[in-house]
Amino acid sequence: MSTLLAGGCLCGAVRYQCSVDPVWSGNCHCRDCQRISGGGYTSTFFVPEDSVAITGEVKYYEKNGDSGHPVRRGFCPTCGSQVFGKPEIIPGVLGIRAGSLDNPELYQPAMDIYTASAQSWDFMNPDLLKFAQLPPK
Ligand SMILES: [Zn+2]
Ligand SMILES: [Zn+2]
Repeated sequence: MSTLLAGGCLCGAVRYQCSVDPVWSGNCHCRDCQRISGGGYTSTFFVPEDSVAITGEVKYYEKNGDSGHPVRRGFCPTCGSQVFGKPEIIPGVLGIRAGSLDNPELYQPAMDIYTASAQSWDFMNPDLLKFAQLPPK
């Protein structure tokens, strides 16, 4: 049985839950992720979009990523927390920020991506796969 993955934003207005195994998990060190997180990278796991139940208003900001494809990043309009990510390059999946989980220990990153733009002060787990940009399909 899959683990319940539940969480939400800082103020609690946005909540989500699903109970499927993530299809992909990883840390993205692209400049856009650094800017939206205010940190060195974002930690995100992806699940089928139709498996997630979301409550509360989510606002999406869209920008083309380094891949040239649009990425929509969802946040709570009240507290500003980044909760979701929807890269159009992988349709049908919803990215969820690992730090928003009620139990963030459930997050198991498989790799670091866009390491070419990682910061020198950002120490990466040497045991994880590394890709300079996107992993090959
Ligand atoms: Zn909030
Ligand atoms: Zn990124």
